[in-house]
Amino acid sequence: MRLVLLGAPGSGKGTQAARLKVALEVPHISTGDLLRAAVAAGTPLGLKAKAVMEAGQLVSDAIVLGMLEQRLAQADAQAGFILDGYPRNLAQVQALDDLLARLGQPLEAVVKLKVPSEVIVGRTELRFKAEGRADDHPDTVRKRLAIYAEQTAPVAEYYARAGTLRIVDGVGSLDEVFARILAALSPAVAASALR
Ligand code: AMP
Repeated sequence: MRLVLLGAPGSGKGTQAARLKVALEVPHISTGDLLRAAVAAGTPLGLKAKAVMEAGQLVSDAIVLGMLEQRLAQADAQAGFILDGYPRNLAQVQALDDLLARLGQPLEAVVKLKVPSEVIVGRTELRFKAEGRADDHPDTVRKRLAIYAEQTAPVAEYYARAGTLRIVDGVGSLDEVFARILAALSPAVAASALR
């Protein structure tokens, strides 16, 4: 299964992806996690990305694409993937299309978790207290939500027009949301299992 999970920061993509990877037996590839690992390791790329991430801005398309390309080349991604945090703008949609066409691995499904902003603000505040991620500071979350509305919402519109988008209500318990995602995926899951 080759799946993109869309949703605002704090919509629960990461949490749901961690479960989906077990159910679908494919790796969870989060560009945010890849970037945070580069920052933690102090690589030149990580040093470049750190300030941009802490300010809640988007890291350059070229840097993120390079990282993603390397990750998709690894053995475990040959069976498929759950992509979380990418694509985040229309240029990345095009880059992903081109990359996957080159790899002969087109996307099979795009799921968007729909969560109202007031719920997002509450969730990210809790995460800020629990994990201390600088970009979960309430001021930065507001900035990230504005960037999401401006740059990432058109990504969902693009996939909606292409007919691949499934919208799932992201408000509820982890189990409820997980069940909704599986139900939304079921035709694609079945097609993937038959291959
Ligand atoms: P996330 O964990 O997906 O919320 O990502 C955390 C931060 O990493 C974002 O606020 C961006 O600064 C950066 N980032 C993650 N994915 C991307 C992407 N696809 N394009 C640009 N920046 C990204």
